[in-house]
Amino acid sequence: MSFAQIIGQSRPKEILARALQTGRIPHAYLFAGPAGVGKEAMAIEMAKALLCSGSGDKPCDGCSACRRAGRFGHPDFFFLFPMPKSAAVEEEREVLDSLVRDPYVRKQPWASPTIGIERIRELRRVSSLKPLEGRRVVIIAEADKMTPEAANALLKILEEPPADMQIILTSSRDAGLLPTIISRCQRVDFNLLTNAEVAAALVEKKSVPEEQARLVARIAQGNYRHAAELLEENLQERRNLVIEALRISLKDEGTRIEWAEGVLDELDKRELRDFISLMLIWFRDALVLTANPAAVANDQLVNVDQIEVMSKFVAAFSEIRFEGIFTDLEKSIEMLDRNVHPTLILVVMLGRLNRNLILKGSAL
Ligand SMILES: [Zn+2]
Repeated sequence: MSFAQIIGQSRPKEILARALQTGRIPHAYLFAGPAGVGKEAMAIEMAKALLCSGSGDKPCDGCSACRRAGRFGHPDFFFLFPMPKSAAVEEEREVLDSLVRDPYVRKQPWASPTIGIERIRELRRVSSLKPLEGRRVVIIAEADKMTPEAANALLKILEEPPADMQIILTSSRDAGLLPTIISRCQRVDFNLLTNAEVAAALVEKKSVPEEQARLVARIAQGNYRHAAELLEENLQERRNLVIEALRISLKDEGTRIEWAEGVLDELDKRELRDFISLMLIWFRDALVLTANPAAVANDQLVNVDQIEVMSKFVAAFSEIRFEGIFTDLEKSIEMLDRNVHPTLILVVMLGRLNRNLILKGSAL
């Protein structure tokens, strides 16, 4: 079975492998599903498979076509992604190089780039010429970021697709695509990865220690790209911040507000989201520890290395209202996604935490 580098996604793998075996390949695919789960990685593998000149399972990863496509140097392979019209060739190359290093983590150096008409026009021009080596493959990543003019120009290509051209669109927001484009593509749905799949991939691909891989996978919630990005951040520091937040939540309101403002000077919105997720995981661990201290040795805990501080924490309270805490933290994440002001979210969150932690009398 090919596509060995792709994490999980057994259904898309099956569909595409069958298409390759039977040779019944539609002119256009739409790889749809959540961000960070491998749609682009799979599109690149599929492009290699379609261009591959090796025998046996495709892509063979050994032939010249596979290797050139793998480093985006094949003359019949086009990879389009959102970028400003003014972007230099070197900047485009940098993004492609990031995909060569890790097809799950495409570098995104621009604020809100689109795929402009000029790129699709270029595609139309090229599509009127014969491919140099038999077949042409075009990937349009984040196809929903096409401008309306670009989308209409692509539609014209899809209405009369050249026989020797295969197009793969990827999108995590397919509501942003023209229905007339969607209807001309064979849709392949990608799912969120499981925590176990993300953790195993981090161990295998990034040599991350198992314990850390489990923690990162839990925060990333099925999004491998997010998991890979989290590795670049200082998780230990972030976990210390959770402990600090717990201490602060016991203090008066003025202190809590001041602390929240200080923290938000350091964290952007996504980092705040990760921080709240970490806190949620921390409390889930604390609940396991409270309910069944004997379970500590097994895989039920994520923060295995923090058992000591966690035990002290749990022991300091006469009551921890876990259900209320889980609800509040989940609500905080929801509010963040709905663009409620971060300071407000954090201050409210600490205030509620204060009420859900009933101190025995001794400080933490
Ligand atoms: Zn090959």
